[in-house]
Amino acid sequence: MAAKRVNPNSVKLHYSYSVTELARCCAVHKNTIGNWQADGLKPIDSARPALFQGAAVRDFLRQRNASRKCPSAPGMIYCVRCRQSRRPALGMVEYVARTPTSGNLRALCEACEAGMNRSVRKADLAKVMPDWATSK
Ligand SMILES: [Zn+2]
Repeated sequence: MAAKRVNPNSVKLHYSYSVTELARCCAVHKNTIGNWQADGLKPIDSARPALFQGAAVRDFLRQRNASRKCPSAPGMIYCVRCRQSRRPALGMVEYVARTPTSGNLRALCEACEAGMNRSVRKADLAKVMPDWATSK
């Protein structure tokens, strides 16, 4: 199972954290901090116990979260029930504007018929739903 995504903003920029404090702050196990170090999170110095600067932790988590994103392919929407990207049933997709420049695509999953949503910028509609955009 994929590890959960920690919100980088849960870490205070100007604080220094011990392993225990950081684990509590991010709601992860202490061993997870060790994994983060193996993945490139640097303590302030090599002194023991290790201390981590909030700003460094935030940068680390941001990069890590960004590198783990895997957006659905064009024409696909992530179905929460199936836990994978699916095509819209009958190719029917509805665009619901949230703001003048962005909105949600709504469709039913072709496999389980659950409702699916995909947030999209209006400018990216043709890229995200190529078939749909050309049929308009
Ligand atoms: Zn589904």
